[in-house]
Amino acid sequence: MKLRIPGPTPCPPAVLEAMGREMIGHRDEAFLEMFHRVTQGLKEFFKTDGDVLILTCSGTGGMEAAVVSTLSPGDKVLAVSVGSFGDRFAQIARAYGADVRPLNFEWGEPAEPEEIAKALRADPDIKAVLVTHNETSTGLTNDLEAIGRTVREFDKLLIVDAISSIGAIPLPVDEWGCDVVVSGSQKSWMIPPGLAMVSMNQRAWQANAQAKMSRFYLDLGRHKTYGARGETPWTPAVSCFYALDVALGLMKQEGLENILARHQRVGERCREGIKSLGLTLLPKESHVSNTVTAVNVPEGIDAEDIRGRLLEDHDILVAEGQGKLQGRIFRIGHLGYVDVADIDDVITALADVLPKVGFKAAQTMAS
Ligand SMILES: *Cc1c(COP(=O)(O)O)cnc(C)c1O
Repeated sequence: MKLRIPGPTPCPPAVLEAMGREMIGHRDEAFLEMFHRVTQGLKEFFKTDGDVLILTCSGTGGMEAAVVSTLSPGDKVLAVSVGSFGDRFAQIARAYGADVRPLNFEWGEPAEPEEIAKALRADPDIKAVLVTHNETSTGLTNDLEAIGRTVREFDKLLIVDAISSIGAIPLPVDEWGCDVVVSGSQKSWMIPPGLAMVSMNQRAWQANAQAKMSRFYLDLGRHKTYGARGETPWTPAVSCFYALDVALGLMKQEGLENILARHQRVGERCREGIKSLGLTLLPKESHVSNTVTAVNVPEGIDAEDIRGRLLEDHDILVAEGQGKLQGRIFRIGHLGYVDVADIDDVITALADVLPKVGFKAAQTMAS
């Protein structure tokens, strides 16, 4: 099956081979060496001199680790949301007793840095800002550089969900002033689900020293302590470490700049293809994502018909809309192990499928 969802993403053959290797002891020298190499590799792709902690959990676990390791119950938190993953971040903070102040934007619209500034000015007690870099539910990339500048001006802690961006869309962590940045293994890193990566800078560790939220498994402080000697506090997903080690090797060979350029190319190709079929995009044109394309389902057409046909006739899996966008959009994932030819394949398949599900504009506009 051709996986064109925004995670899990397809894995290169060398990564899949690595997943099948025999176990090693996670307190053994061989693991320590790999741990060190992988951590250094991630720091290069995060562009940070801070720490990158590797947790055995899904991306959401990384978001939860970021929250509980830097905040205390009752802390005022500005939760910026432009879609369902932004809402999830707010939910996590609320679940642990943060005083969450939501700042919601229309789904498909970007977070406006001026609105964030206004909210921070209006309430000086706000301690931290939660924001999604790339909102996977709407196919939109926020202007994190500008948001980072704003949050820095007000001297707040900036906690970023970059699960579907870092490693595919530019995000120089230190340069943009991001204190905590979360990623997940099954997105741009081209390996199976199982690991979350969280970067922490000096400011984040200062917050950690004061943070009183309940935590144990996801305690980043413990991960730092163990990380200093090349270990994780608990038994890690060893196979995923093998995979990440191989994947980072491939990524280094290609080079970050080339990887970012490839995702830009693939994103543009996808959007052009979608438009050539007479379809439209959900997100605001100025903030379209290069890792996931959210396509509006035309009036009178059933989104599940499109997805079902793509799967049945072309063996291509695309993602459905989430939350209030269910049935209104479908989403094409293009991050990680993907190139232009993979997207051309999806567009060709859509050109075949659309008339079959009753979308008439497809044939005339595509030809
Ligand atoms: C995939 C994703 C998540 C959730 O990751 P899980 O691994 O499913 O927990 C969170 N935020 C964004 C932006 C994502 O794309």
